[in-house]
Amino acid sequence: MSAGKERIFRALKDVVQKPGNAICADCQLPEPEWASTTLGIFICLKCSGIHRNIPDVSKIKSLLLDPWEDSQIQYMAQHGNETAKEKYEAFVPMYYYLPTYMDCQVLREQWIRSKYERKDFTEANKPLAYATGYREGFLWKRGRDNGQFLNRKFVLSEADGILKYFAKNDAKEPKAVIKVDNINATFQPTKIGNPNGLQITYLKDNSTRSIFVYHEEGKEIVDWFNAIRAVQFHYLKVAFPGASDYELKHKLTRNFLKEGYMEKTGPKQTEGFKKRWFTLDHRRLMYYKDPLWKPISSINDKPQTS
Ligand SMILES: [Zn+2]
Repeated sequence: MSAGKERIFRALKDVVQKPGNAICADCQLPEPEWASTTLGIFICLKCSGIHRNIPDVSKIKSLLLDPWEDSQIQYMAQHGNETAKEKYEAFVPMYYYLPTYMDCQVLREQWIRSKYERKDFTEANKPLAYATGYREGFLWKRGRDNGQFLNRKFVLSEADGILKYFAKNDAKEPKAVIKVDNINATFQPTKIGNPNGLQITYLKDNSTRSIFVYHEEGKEIVDWFNAIRAVQFHYLKVAFPGASDYELKHKLTRNFLKEGYMEKTGPKQTEGFKKRWFTLDHRRLMYYKDPLWKPISSINDKPQTS
């Protein structure tokens, strides 16, 4: 490495080591190796791929592979992740789901686009599609019997505290009415076989049901997801008036703690082991014949009475 190159590399390294710059500005992955020279932030490889698709607001450079000008390093030093956070995340609603590097592509992409492209969070009270307390639209929903996806009308209403969907477009009565306070929603792209696949689980007659939906547009499905969280947040505030916003945030939709196949035998223990799909969601362990099937059984951590 030439002396000039080495000096620049050292100067860049000093900036990277400043507080806030040691983790990706968008997903918190440690040791980001890329930067947006227009936004003045340090980001990881995966997030840099998303930034690359919004060239109007973000220009990408590798910290290790690309040549850097002194003026660009100065710009990065003057800005950096903490400054960008103050500007672009100033008014993120408490209920908005903040993705990390553990989350799927659609959540991370929409977070990045919301921040820098749409500038959703730079000013107070900006009208946001998911903050109105009412949402109506079509989602592709997996059919219970044949597994085909069908376009279904969904309605989310804060006033009624429900999410409902209709089996036929002209149907008067909804196929299901789900109370928002017992909904969980998690993105499950692999399981559903669509990058925008969302699993909605809810309690009905004391058993857990799941529906699997997606929308072709990433923004739409993430807006649905945050709209559900917004309505849930509103309900929690009413139900727990003494709780802080921070406490309530952790009662919103959550990712499954664990999910996967295990071998299971029956209660008599003389039956053969069968392969079953288990999910651990908060305090409820459920198992299924296969990941998209309805649960065979669900086990709570509440004391059993019999
Ligand atoms: Zn990242």
